[in-house]
Amino acid sequence: MTYDSNNVFAKILRHEIPNKTVYEDDFVLAFYDINPKAKIHVLVIPKGEYINFQDMLDHASQNEIDGFLKGIFATIKALNLTDGYRLVFNTGRDAGQEVPHLHAHILAGEKLSADHL
Ligand code: AMP
Repeated sequence: MTYDSNNVFAKILRHEIPNKTVYEDDFVLAFYDINPKAKIHVLVIPKGEYINFQDMLDHASQNEIDGFLKGIFATIKALNLTDGYRLVFNTGRDAGQEVPHLHAHILAGEKLSADHL
């Protein structure tokens, strides 16, 4: 499977589509999900072109992998989620991954049930 540079997150990274940014650095962009599944629902995407976690592990440098994980935790810190959160990576068809650019969902802001993603 090759990376589709027309996916919606690639367009966000190219500033072709607006986003509500929570956090940004050299490695990640974090922004509010357009269709929130919890009171707080933020997506963190790497700036590199990776379809899913396996694609990143196979092709990214250790620096990029570290940068992605650090960016996720910097986003959690920026959101001040003192009561907790859920971190979800939907990968592939069985998980219902819609956008083929690696993304972490951060869900928080309320008591989360099994229905939250
Ligand atoms: P997944 O099903 O894991 O691929 O999740 C994709 C997520 O991207 C969904 O929760 C969508 O609501 C969200 N989404 C799609 N388009 C946009 C957009 N333009 N801005 C923010 N979030 C988006």
